[in-house]
Amino acid sequence: MKRILVAGGGGFIGGHFARKLADMGNHVRVVDKKPITEWYQVHEDCDNLVLDLSSKENCYTAANGYNEIFNFAADMGGMGFIENNKAECMLSVLINTHLLMAAKDLGITRFFYASSACVYNGDKQTDVDNPGLKETDAYPAQSEDGYGWEKLFSERMCRHFTEDFGLTTRVARFHNVYGPFGTYDGGREKAPAAMCRKVIDGKMNGKDEIIIWGDGLQTRSFMYIDECVEGIMKIMYSDIEVPINLGSEEMVSINQLVDIVEEIADYKMKRTYDLSAPKGVRGRNSDNTLIRELLKWDPKYPLADGMKKTYDWIKEQMIAKK
Ligand code: NAD
Repeated sequence: MKRILVAGGGGFIGGHFARKLADMGNHVRVVDKKPITEWYQVHEDCDNLVLDLSSKENCYTAANGYNEIFNFAADMGGMGFIENNKAECMLSVLINTHLLMAAKDLGITRFFYASSACVYNGDKQTDVDNPGLKETDAYPAQSEDGYGWEKLFSERMCRHFTEDFGLTTRVARFHNVYGPFGTYDGGREKAPAAMCRKVIDGKMNGKDEIIIWGDGLQTRSFMYIDECVEGIMKIMYSDIEVPINLGSEEMVSINQLVDIVEEIADYKMKRTYDLSAPKGVRGRNSDNTLIRELLKWDPKYPLADGMKKTYDWIKEQMIAKK
């Protein structure tokens, strides 16, 4: 049994991950800056604290007496949020920096940092037929403005805490994670949850039009949350010292994603394309050569199956709200 701190555990991925750690018998402290009433999951068997981890003092308070840290805390969201809140995204650098300092000073044995595919060079993502981003494609650096630069800088901060201070750090670059207990409205939601919400709303309220951001041809891959949790666990306790992709290679266009949701809902809508909305890069996919080589594993859960579970959960929430 270890004492493990999950930073940002009131959020989507941290909430799922804390559940997994507690189920394994660990003593888990979950910290988030949101009031507990706004956490996606509250685990009664964890020590739940509301603290703003951008403050150095709060990071030391949170980590004192713990063995390991998983850092999922960041001010983030889908394209609609990160294109319009670049300074706020960059301020997340304070969280990881102060957590690393606390980890070094308090004798933390292992530290995990949640990075993103947004670190990758934009020039490698101009085509819908993206062949898959390899880890080396992060350099020369031309990350997503704001959010991606913060992630790249924080990755490097982990590397230098390892090189200079001997702190064991692990970094995974997540490619779009989706599933139940995540954001599906309010402006921070990502495409899979947004499409579920729009189609459910359409079906519930008899709407016949769906607005899609961009021309719908832009491509992405999406990883189901259970595989994200499994991958983090494998990476954290591996000897992989470099940032590594954690994502699916099942690339689809946004139109294909809408097809999947419409099929689940058994409801079709007329598509209107908003070309002025935030779209992000043209094409993005994960290249899983390295993770397959090092872990003999990579995410494989079919998108249609994961979307069905996500759709059902969002539908339940929307019905309950109504
Ligand atoms: P999320 O927004 O659901 O969770 C992040 C949590 O961090 C939120 O609950 C938020 O309140 C908390 N937080 C923000 N600032 C904080 C602070 N100063 N102190 C304490 N808590 C703070 O996001 P998520 O989808 O669970 O993402 C988790 C991590 O994974 C983030 O670092 C994110 O950048 C990264 N990531 C996520 C995805 C994805 O598709 N979800 C993709 C790539 C990378």
